[in-house]
Amino acid sequence: MHKDVVIVGAGHAGAQAASLLRQQGFEGSIALIGEEHELPYERPPLSKEYLAGEKSFDHLLLRPASFWNEKHIDLRLAQRVVGVDARAHRLTLDSGAQLDYGQLIWATGGAPRRLSCPGHDLQGVHSVRNRADVDRMIHELPATQRVLVIGGGYIGLEAAAVLSKLGKSVTVLEAQDRVLARVAGEALSRFYETEHRANGVEVRLNVLVDHLVGEGGKVVGVALADGSVLQADMVIVGIGIVPAIAPLLEAGLQDCNGVQVDAFCRAALPDVFAIGDCAAHLNPYCAVQTPIRLESVQNANDQAKVVSRFITGQAQAYDAVPWFWSDQYDLKLQTVGLSLGYDQTVLRGDPATRSFSVVYLRQGRVLALDCVNQVRDYVQGKALVKAGFAPDLVALADADLPLKAVPGVAAVVQESAP
Ligand code: FAD
Repeated sequence: MHKDVVIVGAGHAGAQAASLLRQQGFEGSIALIGEEHELPYERPPLSKEYLAGEKSFDHLLLRPASFWNEKHIDLRLAQRVVGVDARAHRLTLDSGAQLDYGQLIWATGGAPRRLSCPGHDLQGVHSVRNRADVDRMIHELPATQRVLVIGGGYIGLEAAAVLSKLGKSVTVLEAQDRVLARVAGEALSRFYETEHRANGVEVRLNVLVDHLVGEGGKVVGVALADGSVLQADMVIVGIGIVPAIAPLLEAGLQDCNGVQVDAFCRAALPDVFAIGDCAAHLNPYCAVQTPIRLESVQNANDQAKVVSRFITGQAQAYDAVPWFWSDQYDLKLQTVGLSLGYDQTVLRGDPATRSFSVVYLRQGRVLALDCVNQVRDYVQGKALVKAGFAPDLVALADADLPLKAVPGVAAVVQESAP
C-alpha cells in the first residue's frame, strides 16, 4: 500500500501535522501511525489534572473521534513502525506489514530515560510519559503512602505537587545542587524548592541513587550512594527522555541526540522530515548555536506548521519564539524564550509574594523570561525576546513599573503585534 504522506507518531506533533495538512488544502492520502492504543491526546495534563483525578481522559483528546474519518486521515493505532527503507520509501510495521510513502514525517517523541541501576524494573517504579504509565500509578495510589520522585525537573515536580496534595508523603531526590538546574536559573530553583517544602514535600539535593530495593518483585526503597536507604511504596523516575529514532538510525541517519533537521524540518534522508520532541534543530532564539531538542507543545505545534506548509508549497522557515508552562500547586509558571547561554539575570518582584519574573539576558539583551503568576510580563516579554531587546536594567528590575513602561518596551511590543 502507498500513502502520499505517512506520519509516524500520533502524539501532539504528528496529529497536528495531519490536521494542518488538510487545513492547508493537501488532498493526497495521509496515514497517521501511532503505537499507543488511544486516539491522539494531550500529554501535559498527565502529570497535572489527570493524575490528580480532576480531568477525565476524554477531555485530553486533541480531536474528537470523528475528526480523523471526516478528514480522510487513515489513523492506525496500536501499530509500531520498526523499519525504514529510505531509498525504497518503505516502512515496516511490527505486524510485518509494509507501507510505502511519498513523504515521511517522523514525530515519535521519546521514551522515558530509565535508571540503569539494579532494581530499575521493579513493580512500583514508574515513569510519566503516556496514559498507560499514569493509569498504572493511579491504580497503585490507594495502597501507596510514601512516594520517592527521582529527578527534580518539571515532570517530577508536577507529580510531587499533585501527590502531596493527595496526602501522600513525597520526597524528591535530585542529583544536582538545585531542582530545575537544566532549564532555569537559581532564583527559580530556590523558589520552587521553598514552595515544595512549604507544601510538605521533602526536597533532597546532591543525592545519588545507588540502587532500588525490592521485596517479592516490588519496590520498597531506594538505596543512596551514601549507604542510606529511603523507604518507598512508589518510585517515580523523571530524568528525561531518549528520542525514539532507532529505525531512522538503522536507515542511515546519524544520532545527534535526535534527528537533526534544518529550518524546514527536513532530515538528511530523502523526503524525510522530523518534528516535535525527537527533532534537533538550530533554534533562532537560542544564544548557543548548537542543535537542541525542545520538549514542548509549542514546538510540536510550530514544527507541524512548518512541515505542513513545506509539503503544501508554502514553505516558511521555523521562526517561533519558544514558550512553555508548568503548573504546580496554585503556581502558574510561564516561560518564554530560551535561557541557555545567559550571562545575567534580573529579578522583577519578590518571590515571597509568589508573583514575580526572572529575566535572562546575554550581553544586555533579553533571551528569556520565567514568569510565576505574572501573565503580563509573560505576554509583553515575548516581544522582547523576539527583538533581542536591550532594556535599561534599573527600570527592568523595578517591579512596580509594568514591563511596558520600561523605556523602549512599548514600541517593541507594538511593533511585534500581529
Ligand atoms: P509525543 O506527544 O510523545 O508523541 C509521540 C508518539 O509517537 C507517542 O504516542 C509514541 O508512543 C509514538 N511512537 C514512538 N515511536 C513510535 C513508532 N516507532 N511507531 C509508532 N508510534 C511511535 N509541554 C508543555 O509545553 N507544557 C507542559 O506543561 C508539559 N507538560 C508535560 C507533562 C508530561 C507528563 C509530559 C510527558 C510532557 C509534557 N510536556 C509539556 C511536553 C509535551 O507534551 C511534548 O513536548 C509533546 O507531547 C511532544 O509531542 P510529540 O508529538 O513530539 O511527542
